[in-house]
Amino acid sequence: MPSASSLASTLLRREILDLHAYHVPDSAGYIKLDAMENPYSVPPALRGEIADAVAAAAINRYPDPAAASLKEKIRGVLGLPDGMEVLLGNGSDELIQLLAMALNKPGTTLLSVEPSFVMYRMIATFTGMRYVGVPLVDNSGVTNSGAADFSLDLPATLAAIRREQPALIFLAYPNNPTGNLFPADAVAQIIEAAQGLVVVDEAYYAFAGDSFIPRLAHYPNLLVMRTFSKLGMAGLRLGFLAGSAAWLEQLEKLRLPYNVGVLPQLVAGKLLEHHEVLLQQAEQIKLDRAKLYRQLSEIAAVRVYPSEANFLLFRVAHATEVFDGLKQRGVLIKNLNGGHPMLHDCLRVTVGTPEENERFMLALQEIAS
Ligand SMILES: *Cc1c(COP(=O)(O)O)cnc(C)c1O
Repeated sequence: MPSASSLASTLLRREILDLHAYHVPDSAGYIKLDAMENPYSVPPALRGEIADAVAAAAINRYPDPAAASLKEKIRGVLGLPDGMEVLLGNGSDELIQLLAMALNKPGTTLLSVEPSFVMYRMIATFTGMRYVGVPLVDNSGVTNSGAADFSLDLPATLAAIRREQPALIFLAYPNNPTGNLFPADAVAQIIEAAQGLVVVDEAYYAFAGDSFIPRLAHYPNLLVMRTFSKLGMAGLRLGFLAGSAAWLEQLEKLRLPYNVGVLPQLVAGKLLEHHEVLLQQAEQIKLDRAKLYRQLSEIAAVRVYPSEANFLLFRVAHATEVFDGLKQRGVLIKNLNGGHPMLHDCLRVTVGTPEENERFMLALQEIAS
């Protein structure tokens, strides 16, 4: 009998064997500024209400497969244009996978920009789609070039769309891990040029100044994807697609019937009844982001990039040593060095509570001097 590992390597698809698992480090005991979580837990005024609802929940029953009540609340906070529908996912990661499975005819291409959210490429790979990443504009080492860092290379992106005819395009708006919001008119030009489906991924909508939801009705090939993960519900796993019924009715067929459990439906519903509380937390995070940005720009060795998300990307010489030094001082951020060539010496810090940000800055200043 062959060993399990030799069996696995004969039976599994080559693409799976070649994949590197999405690595999540152990964060126990650290000040956790690595994963774009909202640092604030459920507002105390709401805890009792949620506890009561959870105690009464019918967890012996399957969840409402249509999640009607939760969807109604999402529509309420969203201000969806008339005729637009919602499809729920177990996190938006699941929706990326669902879209890739749905559009993956033999030989089709998924296109995004680079560097961006790594799951686009990973999911393309394991669903067997071709992946094309169009580089963003790299100005590292260039001074006064005029172009913003990590901006869209619109001519190159439009040329790639003509050449590759992607069935599916993902644009993170704002982008992760760079934090910038691409110009809306450039995104609109991409949507207009694409023959395929364009998904504008608004994971950071609560921290950004713009959205494509009001434009959904204008473009038959546009869907907007959002998640509640960055707004204080990362543990619930809840994301959604918004768009026309023509698309969502078809995609519904691929959704596993009970992909959003009883408790996520219930708790997210309660939290969305108090959406304004979460948005207030987001406003606080935006103020703290501005402060952290100023403080980082004051360190001569650090180059920090503008952000419309709840994190800041910065470049510093010997980034991996800086990352390790922060870890030794109890602060966990994300090391992007070695991931993508344009992210050489780059680190990403999530905006935490004012106290957490201060601990991070003190540790960084100590390392820098
Ligand atoms: C965090 C993130 C997601 C995934 O969110 P989940 O809903 O937690 O799966 C999707 N897209 C981008 C750009 C993100 O940064």
